[in-house]
Amino acid sequence: MSPSWLMLLHANTYLWEYPLDLLPLVLLAIVPARRILRDAGALADEAPHPFRGETPRARHRPGRPAGRPMRWASFSPVNGPTGFPRLWAQTRRVSRYGAGTALIVVDVQNDFTDPDGSLYVPGGEAIVPVVNAEIDTATAAGARVVYTQDWHPPSTPHFAKDGGRWPVHCVAGTAGAQLYPRLRVVGPIVRKGISGEDGYSGFFQRDPVSGETVATCLDADLRAAGVARLVVVGLAQDVCVKDTALDGRRLGYDVTVVRAATRPVERCPGDGARAFAELTAAGATLE
Ligand SMILES: [Zn+2]
Repeated sequence: MSPSWLMLLHANTYLWEYPLDLLPLVLLAIVPARRILRDAGALADEAPHPFRGETPRARHRPGRPAGRPMRWASFSPVNGPTGFPRLWAQTRRVSRYGAGTALIVVDVQNDFTDPDGSLYVPGGEAIVPVVNAEIDTATAAGARVVYTQDWHPPSTPHFAKDGGRWPVHCVAGTAGAQLYPRLRVVGPIVRKGISGEDGYSGFFQRDPVSGETVATCLDADLRAAGVARLVVVGLAQDVCVKDTALDGRRLGYDVTVVRAATRPVERCPGDGARAFAELTAAGATLE
């Protein structure tokens, strides 16, 4: 008998005596076997896993879409390599700023940011540390930081009580109109809505009655400073951040919106996601 036959005979006798030794091999074969069967249509569509993607950890990780399981090693554009989200955020922040870049901090005011504000944007206060980190990085890189501030008269067609859309907010001179106390302020403030216009965009104000549009000083100031690229953060993602970023694109700026540094007010569910889709379609970058 040849040696190979002897080996097979030996293995056969051995496995009859110790069949459990085959278990690792059987387990290893299950995954590819299931894949082959599934691709061939032999397995029914699998029901969603009852736990995967529903763990509190997965649900609360910023930037991780709900339902996506946490893997032991992964990479995402938002969180970077597994285990280094902060380092990744810092690296991304530094790379955003350089010559010719300005950071626009939109409407981080008490009425939008404080949970007791009259037009509170859910989670508004949570973005303040992120916005401050952007301000620090921008300042360290020599980039300009400009703030916008909603600044309305007590009566304006912008308010629901006067026939408009919104509850009374950011009335000039009131506590609600002040910038949020924990926000670091290191640059000029552009006020909008001063004469009763809809002040959504930091660049333009629109008269809600006549529809006439008037430019603020923001574009002229940025051009005078040689700015070509904008990073936009603040509140609210689906209203003033969106309109400021869209006008920035229309005016020819390169525009980046930082996802972690904005929140939507969502008067209609889904407004936040729709705003991001509009921004992407307009050529803005979401980071
Ligand atoms: Zn307003």
